[in-house]
Amino acid sequence: MAAFTALTVFVVTQTIPHVTLATGITAVVANLIGGITPDIDQPTAPFWRNLPIGKYVGKTFDKFLGGHRFLSHSIVGAFLFGFAFHYILQVLKPSFPHLNMDVIWWAFMIGYASHLVMDTITTEGVPWFLPIPIKLGIPPIKSLRVSTGGLIERFAIFPGLMLITVYYIYGNYDKVKLLLHSYLK
Ligand SMILES: [Zn+2]
Repeated sequence: MAAFTALTVFVVTQTIPHVTLATGITAVVANLIGGITPDIDQPTAPFWRNLPIGKYVGKTFDKFLGGHRFLSHSIVGAFLFGFAFHYILQVLKPSFPHLNMDVIWWAFMIGYASHLVMDTITTEGVPWFLPIPIKLGIPPIKSLRVSTGGLIERFAIFPGLMLITVYYIYGNYDKVKLLLHSYLK
């Protein structure tokens, strides 16, 4: 959800290049994938739960990436995954000439970054500055933060994100309409 909210805010507040419908749809998908990618280091994450052998692959990745909220939850990790995703897109580019890979890459990274920001307000915190092994959280006092999967997350954070998304879409309705119009001719 946070990934999509971040993408919406970005799209309606920034000047974005005109993209094809295919790029737009792929970008939204890339955005959502980016939003769950950091949890690749959790064997129980949605990322793995939905794959048949995901549990086992997830456990292997878990060890490899140093356990829950480690490498993939840091700036260094974001760069690594960013480079990897960029590489994959460059390989795919010749096969998909209608897709604007830069836009898709940015959508992925916005999703990725929004995940780290959202994890920062949870009890566990995020080790932003690995290899410096300090988990940072907002607010700094742990007991004031949100617990993952808890009541506040479900009944305050998610609805809040939805409201922000709707607010931005309505607040910039003309622009959104223009954007949609260019596709729905
Ligand atoms: Zn996470």
